[in-house]
Amino acid sequence: MNEHTFEFKPQTSSTPRDRFLVFGAPQIEQTDIDEVVDSLKSGWLGTGPKVAHFEQDFSRYKGASNVVAVNSCTAALHLSLLAADLQPGDEVITTALTFCSTINAIIHAGATPVLADVDSVTMNIDPEDVRRRITPRTRAILPVHFAGRPCDLHELLDICDEHELLLIEDCAHAIEAQYDGRPTGTFGDFGCFSFYVTKNLCTGEGGMIITRREHDATRIKTLALHGMTKDAWKRFSDDGYKHYQVVEAGFKYNMMDIQAALGIHQLARLERNWQRRRDIWQTYQDAFADISVQRPAEPAPGTRHSYHLYTLLVDEQQTGVSRDSFLASMTGAKIGVGVHYLSIAEHPYYQHRFGWRAEQWPNALSIGRRTASLPLTAALTDADVQDVINATMSIIGLANYTRRRRAA
Ligand SMILES: *Cc1c(COP(=O)(O)O)cnc(C)c1O
Repeated sequence: MNEHTFEFKPQTSSTPRDRFLVFGAPQIEQTDIDEVVDSLKSGWLGTGPKVAHFEQDFSRYKGASNVVAVNSCTAALHLSLLAADLQPGDEVITTALTFCSTINAIIHAGATPVLADVDSVTMNIDPEDVRRRITPRTRAILPVHFAGRPCDLHELLDICDEHELLLIEDCAHAIEAQYDGRPTGTFGDFGCFSFYVTKNLCTGEGGMIITRREHDATRIKTLALHGMTKDAWKRFSDDGYKHYQVVEAGFKYNMMDIQAALGIHQLARLERNWQRRRDIWQTYQDAFADISVQRPAEPAPGTRHSYHLYTLLVDEQQTGVSRDSFLASMTGAKIGVGVHYLSIAEHPYYQHRFGWRAEQWPNALSIGRRTASLPLTAALTDADVQDVINATMSIIGLANYTRRRRAA
């Protein structure tokens, strides 16, 4: 508790909002706008000095020496997996509860995704299930720090050591997270970050890769820009024209200066925004303590949570309302909500391609069918937070709640 936390006052009749609360709306300030305008006026929109500046700031923030900015976390994952030199038939073990691009990146790198189930409480990949899924073809583990809660990195690193596997951290939710005082993304051979609109740091689209080895960063930088040896910024600088050579068939995954312009200022506000989300997260935890929903697990000791998502599990048996009707009612109350995520094995493409049945990952399946994410960004006002709480309470049984409070 601290000065940002306000007292929750249950209301019997909540006045509807007049404006729709967009889920994951980013927090944009005048400095961000000015920096973008500066890029536009400078005539340099592509990869240039602002990307280099943003990379330096990010590298300092994470205490990591090898960083490469790209245009999404999906690109970051794809390039990390390519730099891992996987062969067809090689297997990458990842979580059954993630965004589809984690899986697609493995497929596009030519490897085979193997799903491990999640822990029903932390919603992070279960190291015991990872062990069960290891085969002679396993080459890497790709965990997601779900909702911003760091995975059990000790266990995962032990497994990697025992079986000589690479570790690729999907840190899309977890820029600010730490484990044993060390930043997420610096444990693995690769750490991949997202700056998509709804993420904790937003550049519109954008991503970053941390690599343990310098040569991987060099390779990724080349792969991110067509496989060319010199990037365009250096090519057209005032030192005169430089010829480039294509050394492999690369991709168009580079970040633009317009994106980095946002990133520089978003990064400078990251800790302030983290504190604001932590307060909102705790306010939700307190407000929903007495209603029949499962709240997210409190952060584990010795770790720092990123507070990227606040997810409730709405169980029709216990809560008296189905998850999907909860989502519909929240939308009706002008509150934007999200689902993170349907279990990967619920999607028809993967079922057809890999023969998966969702029941093979029971925890991910069960979470995916009950989960609902409430708005959690630094752009929320106290009144917005109160509206989210009021809407949630009235949908999930305010009557129940007040009855119990009166009895107490
Ligand atoms: C958002 C997200 C991604 C993809 O990030 P993009 O920057 O949109 O490509 C990957 N993994 C997870 C867990 C995500 O939440």
